[in-house]
This record gives sequence, structure tokens and C-alpha cells, in this order.
Amino acid sequence: MKITIIYDNQVYRKDLINKWGFACLIEVQDQPVLLFDTGGDGEILLHNMDQLGIDPAMIEGVFISHKHWDHTGGLETLLRKNSELTLFTPPSACDVINKISADYYRQEKIFTFARPCQFERDFFSTGELKGEEQALIVRSVKGLVVVVGCSHPGVETILDKAALFGKVYALIGGFHGFNNLAAVKGIELLCPTHCTEYQAELSFLYPEKCRKGGVGRVINI
Ligand SMILES: [Zn+2]
Ligand SMILES: [Zn+2]
Repeated sequence: MKITIIYDNQVYRKDLINKWGFACLIEVQDQPVLLFDTGGDGEILLHNMDQLGIDPAMIEGVFISHKHWDHTGGLETLLRKNSELTLFTPPSACDVINKISADYYRQEKIFTFARPCQFERDFFSTGELKGEEQALIVRSVKGLVVVVGCSHPGVETILDKAALFGKVYALIGGFHGFNNLAAVKGIELLCPTHCTEYQAELSFLYPEKCRKGGVGRVINI
């Protein structure tokens, strides 16, 4: 599988535009192409996609972690380019998503995940945690890859839920408020980015596990 960070406030490739928010593309063989979150600004999202050679028409689904603007702000612009997308959202983001998508969409294209579930052969959701956010879990040959938006419910809470589906191999995204750094000791690949406060400490503690994030970063697993 391949993960490409398309939107991030941090920079990996200097020819791309960075701005506060997060989005990444998830490509798994024989599975629908999934965009995880949409960043805060649709024009920047599309610009970076263009630079990275990603055609909006290739995206089949958008997984929304939570309703904050820096994760949903790019959706409307994306829907103007591709109105065939399926949306996967937590219940707490429904009002925001319905408002954004009202002009483009039939309600049958929006799936709401309140509880942990498998929604494709290799894709799972933790379901909405603490009433505010869901995380995406992707099955890979090496184990589960957990992709997080801001981790508002807490990284430990998310990892506990993910463990329902197997052993976690990787954790990628924003680890907001996460300071119990020992909790990720057993994970083999960490890519802390976006709103993670303790990035430097994580890299210092786990130099062999940590990958630098930022817009333009590609991770192959
Ligand atoms: Zn947030
Ligand atoms: Zn955020």
C-alpha cells in the first residue's frame, strides 16, 4: 500500500504548498482509492494533487476523521471536480458534511460510522470515539496501518479500538495532545505530523521507527 500526504502544515517537498490541516491519499491494491480528510483549503488541495500527479477523478471515497475545518474545508472544491465520491463520516460531522455536499449529492453516498466496522476488504473504521472523531485502519501485509486526523479522543483510545482488528504496525497523522510517548513503543512505524506537539521527542526516543511527515511525503508499506 501507498500513502501520500497531500495536505499538511508541515513541509516535506518544497514545491508543494503547506497550510494548516491534513489530508492523505491511501492506495491499496484492488481496493477503492481513498482520500483521508481534505485539508482546510480546496484550492491548495487541488494544487498539491496536481503537482503530485493525482487526478481528482481517481478518488473513489473520502474518509472524514472529524468535522474541524482543517480536515473538511477542501471537500466542497473536491466535490465540484468529482461528485461521484462516497463519503465516510462520523455522526458528529454529519451536519457539516450535509451542508457542504447538499448541492452535489444524494444521501445514499454518505455512510456514517458510529461504531467500529469493516467497510471494504482492507478498510476499517474505529467508529466515532468520544463523540468527536474516527480513525481509519488499513490492513497491510505488515499489519494494521492506523491513519489519524488530530487524535482528539486520544492516541491510546484510538489504538485500543484498532487492536480489535489485529496488530497495529503503523500510526500516521496528527497526534494532538499526545504525551504518553511509551504508549507507541510497540508500533514499528510512526509518522507524527500535522498537530503533533511532541514530534522531536518521538524522533529522539524512536529514531528507527519515526518517519518525517509533511506535504509530499510518500510512505510505501
Ligand atoms: Zn481537529
Ligand atoms: Zn487538525
